[in-house]
Amino acid sequence: MTLLRQTFQRALELVLPARCVGCGKARTYLCDSCVDSMEVPHPRTIAADGYAFDGVTSAVVYDGIARDAVHQLKFRNVRAIAAYMAVPMARGISASLALDAVVPVPLHRSRLRERGYNQATLLGRSIAEQIDVPFEPTWLTRKHQSGRQVEAKDVAARQANVRSAFLSSTAVAGLRVALVDDVMTTGATLDAAAAALKAAGALAVHCYTFARDV
Ligand SMILES: [Zn+2]
Repeated sequence: MTLLRQTFQRALELVLPARCVGCGKARTYLCDSCVDSMEVPHPRTIAADGYAFDGVTSAVVYDGIARDAVHQLKFRNVRAIAAYMAVPMARGISASLALDAVVPVPLHRSRLRERGYNQATLLGRSIAEQIDVPFEPTWLTRKHQSGRQVEAKDVAARQANVRSAFLSSTAVAGLRVALVDDVMTTGATLDAAAAALKAAGALAVHCYTFARDV
């Protein structure tokens, strides 16, 4: 998206009244009853079997209004919807986990330039405020485009490619981290990001996504 188009979209966001993406209700981007109507995945939390993370909790199933909300956030530049999507995510975070930091899954620099913002950063910042845990958007970085993985010839090579895509600050050493992303599909991205955090010494990595593609 060009800077001009981004600026135009932001201006539209300011001029047009907010509407719920699901029902069109005014003065909200996602109303409570639409959130309540979304299907909850069963189980809400998937255990860590075979993954570097300790578990992944998703608020809703990636379908219907939930899918529309993700598209508004990711592709329509409706940044303000993130705070509404973060509410059911934060609700699913157990206080007993004693989290030390909220870290968003980063975008590669070129993707960030293209989109102008990272949707996981917007969600993560809002969650961190709600659960009163420090927000650390710079601890995890993306070294190369995961899109290149399709060029890798076999499964092992692809996995190695994804696994090497992230780099973590050693500031995470000894800490319990909440890793935030918008959608979980195969879990490969969360796994790779969690592996980097663990390699840098993170004690635990619990993942939180708005939606799960089931
Ligand atoms: Zn609604």
